[in-house]
Amino acid sequence: MQYEVKNLVKKYQAGDEQLFALNNVSLTIKENEINTILGPSGSGKTTLLNMLGAIDQVDSGEILFHGEDIAFLNEKKKSIYRRNNTGFIFQSYNLISTLSILENIELGAYLSKNPLDVELIIKELGLSEHKNKFPYQLSGGQQQRVAIARVVVKNPKVIFCDEPTGALDEKAGRKILNILQKLNEKYKTTLIMVTHNPNIADMSHQVIHFNSGKIVNIIKNEHLKSAYEIDWS
Ligand code: ADP
Ligand code: MG
Repeated sequence: MQYEVKNLVKKYQAGDEQLFALNNVSLTIKENEINTILGPSGSGKTTLLNMLGAIDQVDSGEILFHGEDIAFLNEKKKSIYRRNNTGFIFQSYNLISTLSILENIELGAYLSKNPLDVELIIKELGLSEHKNKFPYQLSGGQQQRVAIARVVVKNPKVIFCDEPTGALDEKAGRKILNILQKLNEKYKTTLIMVTHNPNIADMSHQVIHFNSGKIVNIIKNEHLKSAYEIDWS
């Protein structure tokens, strides 16, 4: 098992009260699968990604990554875990505006000890004709592809996506999902996606439904639809 999460708790202070962003969450994530996390706004989806990605502190519980508990590693070890294993894709693309597309993507490769070939990834993501442009010269969908390319060249075992299609229209959104699906197939990357789009469940091996900091349902799919077959509404 790639991740085994046991009784995970994350609290925030909200005025005088404690708010349980994650209230005793347990789940498992298999290597090389596509996982989708669904649930209303404020239900704890992003918090779970931040815990799995070791970018925020856990209050209690365990997060085993290939058997090793990463929940309470010191900052240095967390940083090594993040660097060697994870990549993050956000709804906002977080590109560096003063660097070209090529340079933005090279930055991802520079951060990895076993990067993929930058030119190959640029080609695979359909960015060849844009590589010498700057982020402001690209559409939202194109910028999201650059953000994905920057993560993919790192060659991470796990890619976390927080609302990766949230800012995109149907055409650009399907294209991004198709790219993520192909990455999962070709590079055996585990995908852990948070989304508002329940249709993405149909292209996921595991679908985790959240409400009020708790998992209310987990569904497994054997037959997945492609990004171009799922409904879109
Ligand atoms: P989702 O991603 O499902 O919309 P979040 O995981 O972002 O939900 O948030 C879960 C709950 O935790 C929400 O009530 C949110 O307001 C609260 N929360 C998240 N981050 C913080 C923070 N840094 N400080 C205080 N409260 C937070
Ligand atoms: Mg969120």
